[in-house]
Amino acid sequence: MSDIDITLDNVAVITNDGNPESTTDQPATGFDLLGLHPALLKAVQLSGYTEPTAVQAAAIPAAITGVDLAVTAATGSGKTAAFVLPALHRLATSELKSQRGAVGPRVLVLTPTRELTIQVSQACDTYGNQLRWLRTATVVGGVPYGAQLRAIKSPLDVLVATPGRLLDHLNSGNLNLSRVEVLVLDEADRMLDMGFIEDIEAIAAATPATRQTLLFSATLAGNVAKLAGKLMRSPQRIETHSHTDTNTFITQRLHWADGRGHKDRLLERLLTDPEIDQAIVFTSTQIDAERVAVSLEALGHAVAALHGGMPQGRRNHTLLGLRRRKLRILVATDVAARGIDVPTISHVINYGLPITAEDYVHRIGRTGRAGRTGLAITLAEYGDAHKIRSIERFTTQQIPVSTLEGLEPKARPANATGRPTRPHGARSGSERARPSGTTVRHGAPARRDFSDAPRRARRP
Ligand code: AMP
Repeated sequence: MSDIDITLDNVAVITNDGNPESTTDQPATGFDLLGLHPALLKAVQLSGYTEPTAVQAAAIPAAITGVDLAVTAATGSGKTAAFVLPALHRLATSELKSQRGAVGPRVLVLTPTRELTIQVSQACDTYGNQLRWLRTATVVGGVPYGAQLRAIKSPLDVLVATPGRLLDHLNSGNLNLSRVEVLVLDEADRMLDMGFIEDIEAIAAATPATRQTLLFSATLAGNVAKLAGKLMRSPQRIETHSHTDTNTFITQRLHWADGRGHKDRLLERLLTDPEIDQAIVFTSTQIDAERVAVSLEALGHAVAALHGGMPQGRRNHTLLGLRRRKLRILVATDVAARGIDVPTISHVINYGLPITAEDYVHRIGRTGRAGRTGLAITLAEYGDAHKIRSIERFTTQQIPVSTLEGLEPKARPANATGRPTRPHGARSGSERARPSGTTVRHGAPARRDFSDAPRRARRP
């Protein structure tokens, strides 16, 4: 396949124009109209979902026909089920499921991070719970090789993996990808940002050319389009907007701070809000994540840190604590928090700003999930004003400035956001009510990094 951009000549475009009415006015299309195997419909029903999200309604019937798909879908849009269900459908409707002894997966899903890998594999367990023969394995970095080796050398149907470790197994001759029928690239744009392009190409080259490729990405521009051109055959392009576009709104708020001590006091006050069900506090560094978690614990909060420097076992344990509501607050860095999908997270607080404006959208997307509302509060020092401007340009929305009574910033940011700031006290005191602040449609229109902060290659 030549190195070409996918163009409108070789793709079919199914678009939902993002207009709220266009989604809500659509006639009800239950899952049963999508053509899925009865065992999968049963599992979907058991999970309590009645209507497919926009991306599911568009991608599932198309994927079932066996064509390659390039899909733009934001995190929180229900995209995981949009590829897991048709992939399992293929397994469920195929006679090969009875080939007990065969080695190597028939479905391979590549994701950018360990957390996302675990989330996708959990989705396979959920939607495959009526397929008793289904065997799923995960391969991620940062954990011992032994158990993974046993898993990939045993008969298995679905393998969910991060590219780096998977390639290690491939290069050492321990992994057979010759049975792969469906290759899924989840959050392809992120994988490319993290420098996985060569790994992905090497992995794809080890799978049969006849495979079906399903690519999901926040954007289909630039390098993602190039990758699609290399790995896919006349992909059908699907552009939908997240169901959270219309059903869920994330309210944003900005607090200016004089410095770190002021941010600590703001954070302490904000976390006393009884409206907080569970919150993620984002920090810029691992050291900050540890420091903030320790000081919040000293204040009596049920809190833990989560960052890429922690062993995988501890990270899993912490995430479980969050899911089981043993933790009310998670203090996390960007890399560790990617892919966290806990619907009860009501608040995201940016204690440290993200590296890119796109990361900001991903961060605040940890709240307002699965039809709920969420509040995203950013604490910024005046030196961060250009980053705030960049975020506002990226989301095309201003973040309303707010203050807390008794904790107003001393210095005023002179036009720090490129617009007149609210006088002190315009919105002060209570954090209880959801203010009529800016709402952000979850899922950003385009990528834009902070101009002074080039995107770094990151590995999970
Ligand atoms: P995802 O974009 O795959 O991370 O999914 C975001 C959230 O939406 C997860 O909590 C899913 O469990 C949930 N979800 C997925 N499909 C549906 C659906 N059809 N109806 C309601 N919630 C869903």
